[in-house]
Amino acid sequence: MHIVVCIKQVPDSAQIRVHPVTNTIMRQGVPTIINPYDLFALEEALRLRDRLGGEVTVLTMGPPMAEDSLRKALTFGADRAVLLTDRFFAGSDTLATSYALSSAIKKIGETWGPVGIVFAGKQTIDGDTAQVGPGIATRMGFNQLTYVAAICDVDTEKGIVEVERRAEGGVQVLQTKLPVLITMLEGSNEMRRGSLTSALRAANAEITTWNAEAAGVPDVQSCGLRGSPTVVKRVFAPTPRAERAEEIGKPGMSFEELADAAMDEIFARHPTVEADLREFAAGQQEEWR
Ligand SMILES: Cc1cc2nc3c(=O)[nH]c(=O)nc-3n(C[C@H](O)[C@H](O)[C@H](O)COP(=O)(O)OP(=O)(O)OC[C@H]3O[C@@H](n4cnc5c(N)ncnc54)[C@H](O)[C@@H]3O)c2cc1C
Repeated sequence: MHIVVCIKQVPDSAQIRVHPVTNTIMRQGVPTIINPYDLFALEEALRLRDRLGGEVTVLTMGPPMAEDSLRKALTFGADRAVLLTDRFFAGSDTLATSYALSSAIKKIGETWGPVGIVFAGKQTIDGDTAQVGPGIATRMGFNQLTYVAAICDVDTEKGIVEVERRAEGGVQVLQTKLPVLITMLEGSNEMRRGSLTSALRAANAEITTWNAEAAGVPDVQSCGLRGSPTVVKRVFAPTPRAERAEEIGKPGMSFEELADAAMDEIFARHPTVEADLREFAAGQQEEWR
């Protein structure tokens, strides 16, 4: 089966700084990594390929430097890498990003064989919207399985995939028909180490680089800033809480005296608490009689 994995190159959030005046993310000089959620997606795709046969194509949309992330993915064992890069894509919001990526996935299918599964991460650690995966599925007319924690079964003959999806309060087991887009959760597997052979192959591999025209994007007006209806009105860092810790009690007090002093302080500041507690205690006593 032909599997496509969408990966995004993101700034290493552990080293991100916010500009003190403009409150924008300062990307200059910040090392980049593959979005961590996308590594879970890549590993799952590689496991399926190893089990069922076929090929894994990794795809990213970004500036030319995003090639580094594609080479890294090849080191892990992906078979092919496609970089989607063009000035028309600059400033894309999630709508424009999913439009460009879905056009490229259609082209990948036409060039190297029909795509059965598209994998994406649950979300990125920089944009954080979790919209691109579902956006691609909708544009391609694929079924979509989001927040997937495990792939239970893929039956290529029946064209069925079964997964475990983490939901609030439990786990759902879902089944749907191929082709499908799957977004993977963190912790769903452990990324393999790349072999020396794949590292050497990755270093010399040809990365297929497509601009909008080569990727068969039908309408460049739907890409980049022009195709992005979302406007970031304001960006601001959370205001630090200025409350300082207060000291209660005096040096030399016993534990019991300190506890009494703390309770007195709480009751003084929140006058209704004592009455509420007494009422609650009386109710409890009544219940136990
Ligand atoms: C008005 C506006 C302007 C913006 N301008 C900029 C800007 O100038 N520079 C900038 O860096 N960001 C900009 N952004 C952020 C940019 O739109 C998002 O980073 C992008 O749309 C992807 O959204 P996300 O990061 O939330 O991805 P999510 O929806 O959280 O990603 C989910 C998954 O989709 C896949 N995916 C997402 N993006 C890509 C990609 N590019 N290639 C391959 N797979 C991908 C990955 O598998 C990822 O795990 C802007 C956003 C808005 C709203």
